Amino acid sequence: MSIKKQVDVLVIGAGPSGTIAASIMHKAGLSVQVVEKMLFPRFVIGESLLPRCMEALEEAGMLEAVKAKHFQQKDGAKFVWDEKVCDFNFSLQFTPGWQWTWQVPRAEFDKTLADECEKMGVAIEYETEVTNIEIAADGTSKTTVKDKNGNTELIEARFIVDGSGYGRVIPRLFGLEKQSSLPPRKAVFCHMTDPKRSAASEPNRIIIYVHDPKTWIWVIPFSNGNTSVGYVGDPEFFDKYKGNQTEVYKQLIAAQPELAERFGESDMIWEPRVLQSWSVTTETFFGNGFVLTGNVTEFLDPVFSSGVTLASVSAQMAAKLVIRQLNGESVDWKTEYMEPMQKGVDVFRTYVNGWYEGTLFTIFFAENRNPEIMSQICSVLAGYVWDESNPFVKSHEKNVRTLARYLETTKTSV
Ligand SMILES: Cc1cc2nc3c(=O)[nH]c(=O)nc-3n(C[C@H](O)[C@H](O)[C@H](O)COP(=O)(O)OP(=O)(O)OC[C@H]3O[C@@H](n4cnc5c(N)ncnc54)[C@H](O)[C@@H]3O)c2cc1C
Repeated sequence: MSIKKQVDVLVIGAGPSGTIAASIMHKAGLSVQVVEKMLFPRFVIGESLLPRCMEALEEAGMLEAVKAKHFQQKDGAKFVWDEKVCDFNFSLQFTPGWQWTWQVPRAEFDKTLADECEKMGVAIEYETEVTNIEIAADGTSKTTVKDKNGNTELIEARFIVDGSGYGRVIPRLFGLEKQSSLPPRKAVFCHMTDPKRSAASEPNRIIIYVHDPKTWIWVIPFSNGNTSVGYVGDPEFFDKYKGNQTEVYKQLIAAQPELAERFGESDMIWEPRVLQSWSVTTETFFGNGFVLTGNVTEFLDPVFSSGVTLASVSAQMAAKLVIRQLNGESVDWKTEYMEPMQKGVDVFRTYVNGWYEGTLFTIFFAENRNPEIMSQICSVLAGYVWDESNPFVKSHEKNVRTLARYLETTKTSV
């Protein structure tokens, strides 16, 4: 097979991690080619962003294009358990940084980023799938890609950024996949019309409902008038609901009083979708001639909306290191990339585990919450998980555990 193209960097996938990395590297003068398996716009889940991802969008030069789409602004997140409410407002967060972000239908958001990337001059080949990669000892690679007509071609690159999300191209091809420590969970979700939205007390606010201690629900209103509603829980939770996906989803809507009230008469925009067992990780986040970004590294759980933010920050961080390496500087990928990314993921892991173990319920739904502590936790939920001046980042595990134990034993306010 002849070599079709020679580029500095081949980026696999045109999701947020791929296009943010591609834009930053292109702006630094590298020649970048993106290959994307699907035709955009394409559906992907992950609609609630965190303020920290705004910094990555800004550095990639994409912020204005996204602003122009007038997506629903997100100023915080509200957690509701029966009568108890825990409302985080990003303007009260501990870490200096962005105090808002967006709730986005991802098909449109991802297409906006990809179009902006192309406008800057990055070539994106859609409906083109990576099927094989060979990397030489000097790190240069030959990647086989297959287009929708079955034609195959080779792309030679000095470096590969794998942002293939759930496709997990390099971990699969190179046998790097590793089991996650998190148990498998399942989600059933749909986009709904929302005619009763204006009757809600905060119509456009994202709400997380605790359905039962192991099952929760997201309600993410969009600026187009539709709202994303999804259940997440142990796979067994869903066994008691019988019928096809639409029938099961209708029963789920009826099973939570707030949903029944607001969405009982809504229309489904498409047939409800199901996703299961998404938590997976890899042995390493980098190797000779490649780096993994976004979901390919590790995706934990949707409860704190960390996915797109970790994808954006990893892309931002990786792109800058690729630029340095291809400009002849030495890069220590372990200490400069994998360890900091792992650290951010580990902070979220503590909160995800705390959520499912119930520790976080004790903290979130305590009667008189300490505003200083809640502002520190708010920064974690805003995605500022690298701010070591925040005690709930620096000593995340210990402080979450200690605070919950204190609240449990005293059963008073903090
Ligand atoms: C139930 C659920 C709910 C979620 N909710 C949220 C949320 O509210 N907020 C949030 O931030 N995150 C959420 N996430 C996580 C979110 O989906 C991901 O973290 C995010 O999409 C990762 O972005 P990415 O750029 O890494 O990958 P993706 O957005 O998945 O993009 C990867 C791209 O690579 C392409 N690709 C795959 N294989 C190949 C190949 N062989 N060749 C070429 N291209 C390829 C794909 O077509 C895709 O377009 C949720 C996840 C789940 C499971």
